[in-house]
Amino acid sequence: MIVAKPDGKNEGKSIMYDFRESDEQKLIVNSVKEWCEKNLTAEKVREMDDKGHPFPKEIVEGLCKLGYVMGPVPVEHDGPGIDWLTQGMIAEVIGYYDPTAATAAALMAVETGWGFTLDRHCSDVIRERYVKPAMKGKKFVGVATTEPGGGSDVAAFKSTAVKAGDEWVINGEKTFTSGTEECKEWGGGYWINVRTGSPPPGAHHRNMTSFFLPIDAEGVEVQKPYRDAGRMSISTGGFIMDDVRLPDEYRLGDVDYGFYYTMEGFDNARMMIGSSCVGIIQRIIDEAIPYIKAREVFGRPLAKYEAIQFELAEIYREMEALKLMTRKTAWMQDIRYQEEGMPERIAKATTFKPKEIAKWISLIKWKGPSLALDAAKKAMLWFGAAGYTKDYLLEAAWRGVMSYVIGAEGGKNIQKLVVARELLGREYLPYR
Ligand SMILES: Cc1cc2nc3c(=O)[nH]c(=O)nc-3n(C[C@H](O)[C@H](O)[C@H](O)COP(=O)(O)OP(=O)(O)OC[C@H]3O[C@@H](n4cnc5c(N)ncnc54)[C@H](O)[C@@H]3O)c2cc1C
Repeated sequence: MIVAKPDGKNEGKSIMYDFRESDEQKLIVNSVKEWCEKNLTAEKVREMDDKGHPFPKEIVEGLCKLGYVMGPVPVEHDGPGIDWLTQGMIAEVIGYYDPTAATAAALMAVETGWGFTLDRHCSDVIRERYVKPAMKGKKFVGVATTEPGGGSDVAAFKSTAVKAGDEWVINGEKTFTSGTEECKEWGGGYWINVRTGSPPPGAHHRNMTSFFLPIDAEGVEVQKPYRDAGRMSISTGGFIMDDVRLPDEYRLGDVDYGFYYTMEGFDNARMMIGSSCVGIIQRIIDEAIPYIKAREVFGRPLAKYEAIQFELAEIYREMEALKLMTRKTAWMQDIRYQEEGMPERIAKATTFKPKEIAKWISLIKWKGPSLALDAAKKAMLWFGAAGYTKDYLLEAAWRGVMSYVIGAEGGKNIQKLVVARELLGREYLPYR
């Protein structure tokens, strides 16, 4: 929790780091743990992974009822109004109980990260029709920035919107979109980006406008979902938009400024991925320790061999580092939102510049999934043939976190680009 205390030496107040969890945070974290103990058991997660999508409605509704989905949506918008630091702790727990990454991807990265950002920039109509029902688990809200031409370069999309009277006419295609089957079944829609003019040379992030696209709008054709390798309980699909007409109130923020809002959405979703990876890695460690203590090879437990002990110690060290990094990042984002207040077209100057926060966010989005993948792979090896079976969730974690390394919310190399850009300066960006 953000703790604001008198500084002691100076007049005024400073916002201090406090590594203790507050009573309120303990209460929230314990209640989510209790809920997951009953509802997101290993058997349930295995069943979800085996059965595949659609994502179980009772899991979404249950967590929404507790106020753990889109937690940072402010109270004045009927949201739980918790801070990102606490939401990150919740994401850690969700990652722990569902190490396949499906629940965290669906409810933390997509619905919480993007749903919160949607709430900040949408009209009251969208808030009432989509954001509030999604907070109750009744509808799905997601993000669709990736197009068949590519996903890493967020501004390289081709979809367009042309103003026709009071409406916008939208054409284009989005792909590799999380939750298309759930969205079709429950109702809801997507944050999309479209071109609303010709950008100047070398600045293709300009003239990009964001809209909310209801999945059932006339002219939207949802494509057959992909057969993913992992995080099976949430679908990944795409859709074509053929002369879809949207009223102006479906626009998110100002015309031509969509790039900035979209980056904010990525920031919040990526934070959730970093935090959920802390939980996934902790789960892998907790599954592995009893196994390597019990399994005897060449007359002694696996846990006695240095080769295995050292790998375990390294994974643990890195997980603890990741936890500190994710919590510091969330704390910075909380300060930003606290100082910035409610929606602004472009972020105001705050203690931490948005680009500085984006650098930290990229650090955790890079470190978290890579580390979780490495931990899952190492633990599978410790388990020998048993690690290669579906008797354990290790293989499902390995398949699931790979989606974060490859791409979901930006691939590993893209995070490295952001970090290097902040260290070297924009003039060293390889694509400029
Ligand atoms: C399971 C899953 C769910 C997803 N859900 C969503 C969703 O809900 N909404 C959505 O919009 N998208 C979603 N995506 C798409 C995801 O955002 C993209 O996969 C990602 O942005 C990468 O885009 P791409 O797949 O087109 O790869 P490309 O952009 O073609 O990149 C290919 C490879 O090149 C690397 N690369 C790219 N540029 C550089 C560079 N300059 N230097 C070095 N390496 C580079 C990338 O890191 C990647 O490894 C999802 C993806 C997955 C796997």
